[in-house]
Amino acid sequence: MKAKVIIVGGGFAGLQACSVLRRSGERILLIDPNPGPTMLPALPDLAGGWVPERIVQRPFGEILPANVEHLQAAVSSIDLEAGTVQAGGQTIAYEQLLIAPGSVPNFYDSPFPRERMHALGTLGDARRIRREFEAYLGRTERPHLLVAGTGYTGLELAMSLYFRARAAGKPCGVTIVDPTPILLPSLPEKQRRYVLDFLVAHGADVRLGTAVESFDGRDAVAGGTTYADVFFCWAAGSKLAVPEIKGRIEQVRDGRLKVAPDLSLPNYPNAFAAGDAVAIERNGQPLRKAVNFAYYGGRRAGQNLLQRRRGRPTRPFRPVDLGWVVPFHDTSIGRLFGGLWIRGRLGVRLHHLMCGVRNYSFANFAGCLRLALNPNQGEDP
Ligand SMILES: Cc1cc2nc3c(=O)[nH]c(=O)nc-3n(C[C@H](O)[C@H](O)[C@H](O)COP(=O)(O)OP(=O)(O)OC[C@H]3O[C@@H](n4cnc5c(N)ncnc54)[C@H](O)[C@@H]3O)c2cc1C
Repeated sequence: MKAKVIIVGGGFAGLQACSVLRRSGERILLIDPNPGPTMLPALPDLAGGWVPERIVQRPFGEILPANVEHLQAAVSSIDLEAGTVQAGGQTIAYEQLLIAPGSVPNFYDSPFPRERMHALGTLGDARRIRREFEAYLGRTERPHLLVAGTGYTGLELAMSLYFRARAAGKPCGVTIVDPTPILLPSLPEKQRRYVLDFLVAHGADVRLGTAVESFDGRDAVAGGTTYADVFFCWAAGSKLAVPEIKGRIEQVRDGRLKVAPDLSLPNYPNAFAAGDAVAIERNGQPLRKAVNFAYYGGRRAGQNLLQRRRGRPTRPFRPVDLGWVVPFHDTSIGRLFGGLWIRGRLGVRLHHLMCGVRNYSFANFAGCLRLALNPNQGEDP
């Protein structure tokens, strides 16, 4: 099988590339294991049962341009020398390629039983956490959340579940551990302190410099303390979602690809990458994984793919940081364009609004807007 253009992953980056290429007249094959894109930033709230599932997704069939065909399969390997991808048991050749599969939770070589660890990377993960946390609350008098990882996903998930337990009338213990010594290291001290004070005010025990030493599927030990019958969430890192890429490429520790300024791969001018799949350096640090960088990176990669096809010069991707907000259910921390820090409920509302603006239909946008006006009211059953 041969496709002119293959796009691996139909998330924020891949869909923007599809949109740019819709009038190109090219036949495009979008390969993605899911039936549609997911609004990932809403997943911690979905896992806690605070937002309805219908506003976080939409089938590809309803949004893809006519020249894009969707193959529902995961790409297991890309061979840049041969110009092929492996997906769904097929080897598919391409003339041009966009690698935009995002990232998946990284379990490293953890020996703990995977089926009892709750990581949050997909809609399926959020559904499972929601279902299993409800069952856990139903059978436990003294629920206890143990969260490994003090990045944004871990903290957002911890607070979403903590408030769900409270809403169910069950006071819930929360322990958050991380082997690194600093919570949210990209934040200045004052903002970090604000988040820490909020967590502590809700009874969370934040143990930095501490790793989970054992977990048998029920009880866990961290920093020498035993936690009995825990609900264990794993948010300790992420990695590139395609397991194998063969070729003369450079990858950073979590698998992200180093790219040229126009988002092409240095030794492969017909292959581009965007979104969470790329490591773009800014002030000596890789750019954080975020919706806006994926969205605009996907657009630029799509435009450059077309320019290359037409033998015209490509243009560099210049990411603009429009700011960010991290919601912790009842409060938030964020920084807006221009450097203004925000906190509290305003940030929670802004977060829901942005989930609406970047969503996939007017109905989804309207649902997010309702949440922005009335946050944390709880899901319909
Ligand atoms: C829980 C969570 C909360 C987040 N909150 C925020 C937030 O509040 N604000 C913010 O800016 N960012 C947030 N992010 C990060 C943000 O969602 C990502 O940076 C963004 O989604 C990256 O876009 P992408 O297009 O690169 O990848 P994605 O949006 O992840 O899309 C990748 C697509 O590729 C598909 N795919 C995966 N593996 C394969 C494969 N092997 N083969 C083919 N296709 C594959 C997936 O099904 C998916 O459709 C959050 C992420 C998570 C997980």
